[in-house]
Amino acid sequence: MVSMSGSEESLECPICTTAIDREDAIRTRTIGDLDSARWQTLCCPDCGTRLKTVFVGE
Ligand SMILES: [Zn+2]
Repeated sequence: MVSMSGSEESLECPICTTAIDREDAIRTRTIGDLDSARWQTLCCPDCGTRLKTVFVGE
């Protein structure tokens, strides 16, 4: 079952409407000036659409 709405745990692709666990998303470097050691972009594993840029810190 999908977790509660509003959770940060999962994402939904706006293109193919796949629900994606953060764990399952493809991680790529961000575009622009963000530090790639700290920020990553989560992409849909199905269609490759960029979903969200997240802070991975440390
Ligand atoms: Zn997708």
